[in-house]
Amino acid sequence: MTTEQSPSAQPAQPAQPANTSPSMEVMRLLWPGALAVQAIHAAARLGLADLVAQGPKTAAEMAQASGTNAPSLARFLRALTSLGIFAADSVGRYHQTPRSATLQSDHPESIRRWAMMLGARFLWEPLIELEETVRTGLAGFEQVYHRRFFEYLAESPEDAALFNAAMSSLPAYLASIVEAYDFSRFERIVDVGGGHGALLRAILSANPRVRGLLMDLPGVVAGADAVRSGPVADRCEVVSGDFFETIPAGADAYLLKGVIHDWNDEAALKILKNCRHAIRPDGTLLLVETVLAESSDPASAMMDLLMMVLTGGRERTEEELRSLLHTAGFSLTRVIGTTGASILEGQPNVMG
Ligand code: SAH
Repeated sequence: MTTEQSPSAQPAQPAQPANTSPSMEVMRLLWPGALAVQAIHAAARLGLADLVAQGPKTAAEMAQASGTNAPSLARFLRALTSLGIFAADSVGRYHQTPRSATLQSDHPESIRRWAMMLGARFLWEPLIELEETVRTGLAGFEQVYHRRFFEYLAESPEDAALFNAAMSSLPAYLASIVEAYDFSRFERIVDVGGGHGALLRAILSANPRVRGLLMDLPGVVAGADAVRSGPVADRCEVVSGDFFETIPAGADAYLLKGVIHDWNDEAALKILKNCRHAIRPDGTLLLVETVLAESSDPASAMMDLLMMVLTGGRERTEEELRSLLHTAGFSLTRVIGTTGASILEGQPNVMG
């Protein structure tokens, strides 16, 4: 047998397992991909995993408890088991599986809130506009809702609640950020666009001498009850504001997690320059972002698509972030990888 050397301009061919073909591989991405998202979304909304948390139940029992149509729920459960979500026994009862357990509200690493958000209409409809976004470069979200993403959330309490709850979940991911960096050396950390403050709370809990300031839009910080009344309340201020206008000044640390990727370069620069203006000369800027890999990596490349469609923002490579920081008056001093994202540390340059 002879193997022909492929010309160097050809991309490398991934090794193919037996009994597969490129068309079947693509078919497997299409099918059941689209249905799987809506199935997991609906299971999360219906709270099905909570129903079997205390023990197995039949489809009829689950239909009654969830107020759903019994024959439809039975078919729905069969489809979910094909995804490893619930398992049926020989007498027709559904049991929790490790996968379905993650949809329980009180699971320590619950992804119920992410499932509720990712299949929701306000994300799903804009995704249908992906083709249009690719054609025009305009965020699909704005084509559908005629408003920017965060303007829409400010006017849509139910969807905002889904978004903020998803952002506040995944405590192990937040813990990995808290562990990966020494926050104890700071006096006061300003969490810019900090949402409901889940990360700041975790940082302050682990570093009892550090004080914090949570800053976000008025409608968002209004929901930051866990910061206002929880165990770190006496060390944490909560301030509402617009980071394009002004950012509270005089702290030695400014933290922005999942903020810069929401914006195009011009807007991202404005936020960073406002941080530069606010920060102490010896202060530290910390970005927590998914760094776009030079080679195609599904996690960051797909998040980049989501940003393109929802907010008109983008994921960036380390070099792109370095250059953005430089233009805003910061030097990138360190990049620390965590399990989910990277912490990028910047120091203010002496102002010219
Ligand atoms: N840092 C949080 C939230 C990230 S989502 C986390 O990682 O979980 C981006 C955040 O930016 C949202 O909470 C949003 O309300 C906030 N935001 C968007 N526009 C803003 C503005 N103009 N001023 C202040 N915050 C803003």
